[in-house]
Amino acid sequence: MNATAPPRHSNTTNVDQAELDKFSALASRWWDPESEFKPLHAINPLRLEWILGQAGSLAGKKVLDVGCGGGILAESMAKAGAQVTGIDLAEKSLTVARLHGLESGVPVDYQTISAEQMASENPGQFDIVTCMEMLEHVPDPGSIVQACATLVKPGGWVFFSTLNRNPKSFLFAIVGAEYVLRMLPRGTHNYESFIKPSELAASVRKAGLASITLAGMEYNPITDLYKITHDTSVNYLLATRREN
Ligand code: SAH
Repeated sequence: MNATAPPRHSNTTNVDQAELDKFSALASRWWDPESEFKPLHAINPLRLEWILGQAGSLAGKKVLDVGCGGGILAESMAKAGAQVTGIDLAEKSLTVARLHGLESGVPVDYQTISAEQMASENPGQFDIVTCMEMLEHVPDPGSIVQACATLVKPGGWVFFSTLNRNPKSFLFAIVGAEYVLRMLPRGTHNYESFIKPSELAASVRKAGLASITLAGMEYNPITDLYKITHDTSVNYLLATRREN
């Protein structure tokens, strides 16, 4: 991909530039496991294993990672044998992702393009689509869900993860993570943009995807460890499949 090509999202307004700017400002630190992105590094092996548990082997699968950032999940799926394309609209993050790929030798095709534009150009082209920790950063998450559904092949998997919206998630994801433990910069997340599993399930259904598995991801601040659980009250993952 030509790194200097202009971003291709002219046909969508589903972008919050302030959100992209937040990620661009931190872009150089994507691969520093002690940086603001530490939580993503910490959860990555768990979510990869969870994806493998649902979809089976990634070997030879065509995978699209929507909102890939610096490529933490994208590279890990490529290492697991998938042929991965990563898309995002924060150009600086994609530059970091491409450079990291050169260093690690893990091939991922990174493109600056919106999910909606990608969907209009490549409908039904991917075995698996992942969209993790991204929906809570866009004005219209339902439009991203629809784009993911359009991008995946009939019968293919789409994996989402995001933050639930309730007093506990406010306390843990914002007060705890941004103010008390300072794991994330203040302002990383907006409470109003959090998404209840029932709301995500409704968008998923509307887009022609079937919800298959809902799981929680729990953080224990004492042990500093994450685990996949049944508790979806803060972080959660939803595995879906396209029906036809
Ligand atoms: N999915 C990655 C990164 C999560 S951070 C992971 O889980 O490791 C959220 C990402 O969403 C950032 O890289 C940000 O640039 C991207 N993003 C925010 N709004 C977007 C939009 N409208 N289109 C594409 N990507 C977007």
